[in-house]
Amino acid sequence: MIAFDNVAYSYGGAELLSEVSLRLTPGSFHFLTGPSGAGKSTFLKLCYAELLPTAGQVTIFDREVRSLDRDEVARMRRRVGVVHQDCQFLDHLPIAANVTLPLAVSGRDTGAQDLADLLGWVGLGHLADALPPSLSGGERQRAAVARAVITSPDIVLADEPTGNLDWEMSLRLLTLLVELNRMGKTILIATHDLNLIRTAKQQVAARVLRIKDRRIQLAGADL
Ligand code: ADP
Ligand code: ADP
Repeated sequence: MIAFDNVAYSYGGAELLSEVSLRLTPGSFHFLTGPSGAGKSTFLKLCYAELLPTAGQVTIFDREVRSLDRDEVARMRRRVGVVHQDCQFLDHLPIAANVTLPLAVSGRDTGAQDLADLLGWVGLGHLADALPPSLSGGERQRAAVARAVITSPDIVLADEPTGNLDWEMSLRLLTLLVELNRMGKTILIATHDLNLIRTAKQQVAARVLRIKDRRIQLAGADL
């Protein structure tokens, strides 16, 4: 689904990531850990061609990212839902409009019932008309999950989705991501929250990728 072959990335100076080779297979559930500044966000951006590798090959849905033209990148991104660390909502638009924006920009409509189901699923049915600044951190993150899946993506990437949440809210968010995985979606969560990873491992066959010394390796069962 996503394949890295001997990938390196640098922002101009020294290499941040090097010799990264790995596969995210359909339906898999992965965590990505590593200290702050290790390159977790950078790796996620490589997974949806927000960044292009400085060496090696990134293949998304069987297409090498450099071979994609602008339309193809846009089409590919509808199949990859991203939950950003800072949510990035348009504060003057209600939650419902923010959540449906990824479909609206491609000229498509969301059925009222589908939207109601989706907001109900993330526990925000009562906040469809609320403006983003009035939501709590946990509500905003759940809205971000709803927005990430509105295009029915095959893959969901989340960047420190529980970074600003208390434990109870973190668990609630994790539950949503586990449910998406049970629906067949491929999940990748960047986090340094080891408790979250341990909890997830009791619910799904999650694997842990660790960034260390610029390389990304599969962690053992010692986590
Ligand atoms: P993480 O998500 O693990 O905290 P990031 O991928 O955000 O790590 O960043 C890794 C390193 O790359 C950091 O040292 C960061 O300062 C640097 N970095 C991130 N984005 C840029 C950029 N646009 N230009 C230059 N350096 C960057
Ligand atoms: P149920 O099938 O009983 O509703 P699930 O745990 O299977 O329970 O969750 C399905 C819910 O997930 C749907 O009601 C739907 O609102 C929501 N959902 C998940 N992904 C999407 C998506 N891509 N588009 C719309 N709704 C989605």
